[in-house]
Amino acid sequence: MSKLMIGTDLAAEMVAKAAERAAALQEKTGVQPCLATVLVGDDPASATYVRMKQNRSKKAGIGSRSVVLPAETTTGELVAELHKLSNDPEVHGILLQHPVPGHIDERAAFEAIDPAKDVDGVTMHAFAAMAFGEPGFRSCTPGGILRLLEAYDVPIAGAHAVVIGRSPILGKPAGMLLLASNATVTYTHSRTVNLPEIVRTADIVVAAVGKANFVRGDWLKPGAVVVDAGYNEGNVGDVHFDEAASVASLITPVPGGVGPMTIALLLEQAVDAAEAQSETAVRPVVTLP
Ligand code: NAP
Repeated sequence: MSKLMIGTDLAAEMVAKAAERAAALQEKTGVQPCLATVLVGDDPASATYVRMKQNRSKKAGIGSRSVVLPAETTTGELVAELHKLSNDPEVHGILLQHPVPGHIDERAAFEAIDPAKDVDGVTMHAFAAMAFGEPGFRSCTPGGILRLLEAYDVPIAGAHAVVIGRSPILGKPAGMLLLASNATVTYTHSRTVNLPEIVRTADIVVAAVGKANFVRGDWLKPGAVVVDAGYNEGNVGDVHFDEAASVASLITPVPGGVGPMTIALLLEQAVDAAEAQSETAVRPVVTLP
């Protein structure tokens, strides 16, 4: 279907380029980019996501370090582990799989990641850099969404984008990146009144709710571009795909839309981090005459 905005191919291109850069870095400096993954607890979905990210890393020539901690890990213990990885010169990027178990202060854990290694873009430093339009690691799903919209030449400047969801790692940064691309952005959330009416005014809809088939076809303006960031049990997105596909001009499938873009950006940023860190490490000492 020509309406599909597919992430798989674009993601594969991004990963291939990241792999080339990883190999070039290794050849030049002997350093293999290394992504550390941290998993707390035994949630099977989280374990699957981590495994998937490690497998993709391997295929791209990026080394991985796996840290698995028991569900009863305290905030202090997790923070200590993340500090250790942050201080380890052989680790270039750190991914803390989230959500972490409810008793852990997730924000405190994220902030224990050195911003130079925050390749998943979860720290306040990364968020602020994004909000100020400064270079930095992007939160991977929102960053991947923007790359996908750009690749499909979706006009963003002047468009009305409605983002459903305002989580700090997805909805909020997605809206800010759209704003930085000159969209007029409306955020919506669980307290929004008349959500379908608002969504009907959108040229671009980003669904980041976490509820299967939540956005219905009759909520959409004909010709709207629909980005479904949701991923619910049974490979189901947050948008009712069949209904929406008959109204939208472009729509991301689930799976195969936003998901692969998230991982591709993670790997790209892991190589960015390794390049930046090896540059700092091998910078020659300049001796003044
Ligand atoms: P989250 O932290 O649970 O946030 C969900 C957001 O949806 C919240 O802002 C919430 O509003 C809003 N919401 C809940 N019910 C609503 C309603 N009835 N009407 C309007 N808004 C409502 O979830 P998340 O981490 O952002 O993830 C969202 C979805 O994206 C999930 O399906 C997740 O699996 C998926 N995801 C996919 C990827 C990927 O790589 N494809 C990556 C991350 C997440 P309040 O703020 O008012 O509570």
